[in-house]
Amino acid sequence: MSVYSGPVFDMAAQQFGVIADYLAIPFDERDRLLLPKRAITVSCPIHRDDGSVAVFEGYRVQHHLTLGPTKGGTRFAPSVDIGEIAALAIWMSWKCALVGLPYGGAKGGIRVDPALISRRELEGLSRRYMQEMIPFVGPHTDVMAPDMGTNEQVMAWFMDTYSMYQGQTITEIVTGKPVSSGGTLGRREATGRGVAYLARRVLNHLAIDLAGATAVVQGFGNVGSYAALELHNFGLKVIGVNDHTGALYDGAGLDIPALARHAAIHGSIAGYSSELQYDPAEVLTLRCDVLVPAALERVIDENIAENLRCRVLAEGANGPTTPAADRVLDQRQDEIFVIPDILCNSGGVVVSYFEWVQDLQQLFWEEEEVTRREYQILDRAFDLMVKRARQDGVSHRTAAMAIGVEKVRAAKLTRGLFP
Ligand code: NAD
Repeated sequence: MSVYSGPVFDMAAQQFGVIADYLAIPFDERDRLLLPKRAITVSCPIHRDDGSVAVFEGYRVQHHLTLGPTKGGTRFAPSVDIGEIAALAIWMSWKCALVGLPYGGAKGGIRVDPALISRRELEGLSRRYMQEMIPFVGPHTDVMAPDMGTNEQVMAWFMDTYSMYQGQTITEIVTGKPVSSGGTLGRREATGRGVAYLARRVLNHLAIDLAGATAVVQGFGNVGSYAALELHNFGLKVIGVNDHTGALYDGAGLDIPALARHAAIHGSIAGYSSELQYDPAEVLTLRCDVLVPAALERVIDENIAENLRCRVLAEGANGPTTPAADRVLDQRQDEIFVIPDILCNSGGVVVSYFEWVQDLQQLFWEEEEVTRREYQILDRAFDLMVKRARQDGVSHRTAAMAIGVEKVRAAKLTRGLFP
């Protein structure tokens, strides 16, 4: 039992246990690799629009500082707790190491439903959260980014607040900022584009014709909408989409550019069409070539895993598949090609890394260069994962996580234990 205990942290711990057994990591090294270096809880009081004061709880977990600063998103959601944030920080560590970035993992969040507060309250809360975090973060300590419920605007407020306290503009304190405030071209699209790019690579490998292929996307926020748009651009029919407000289905293929425009204006897919409404509970198990979960963690349990009817599971979300579901998917390896989250959605942190590098150097790249370099890194990590999985007869998730864990472990062993 620890302060982190809960369903999401327990899942990250179980996954790590599988990897540690596979790599035969001695037991006395395991806690050092798994447990976060630092966890911060803050109270963020703000003035509500009606003049009252409300206090929101915020968190930041920094998993390890062995390879460089920590890096990770900030989630604003009513379900956020310290265990979930810790799990997300741990996954970030394995992800950054897998793709070769000089970062440890971090994650942060506030327990708030951003849909229930005004824009002015959101700005106040974002600024207060960053102000509370100033002693613990920095461009070479911990660099924040967006995640569920946050966006470029929130990152701009974070950057501005940090900069005001330092007395100079420090764009490299956060990534995922607007391009007008030191952000990079291609970051907004990076995660979804990476998901679609890897899914296409697998479809080509499986000799599935893109023009006749279908896709289903759960979640239509930053990751889901750009993944859907890119799959649509590749010629796939995106037949099903859902978000927290409901689901849409069209066997002939949804008009994804129109749906994306609608969601950008209205904040969700609600109100797009009454004829195309569908049962959200049925979306994940629709027959399709590519299934992209791009919303919450733990949505694919063992029951759903048994009923999946996709050829490629491209995990846009972090932690969408439970360890029990993984055991089912291990049995279905010949039917379903899993692109695990820490690889599949890593385009986001890869381009965040490019943004940090550009901000530090004050030298900005063309979008073409950003995307080309993103795909190069994704291809390299994909090749490593597939080779390792084949060589050792393990799942893609085990192979990907093992590569990440090995890199962190090697750095810890060579650096030694201080003092
Ligand atoms: P977002 O806030 O932009 O979008 C989240 C989407 O999920 C929304 O469409 C929302 O309606 C939907 N959703 C929420 N609850 C749902 C439910 N119960 N059923 C169906 N849909 C639901 O968030 P995002 O940035 O797109 O992040 C989505 C996932 O991708 C998260 O797991 C996040 O950690 C992961 N991720 C994000 C990035 C990034 O760059 N933004 C990078 C890597 C991983």
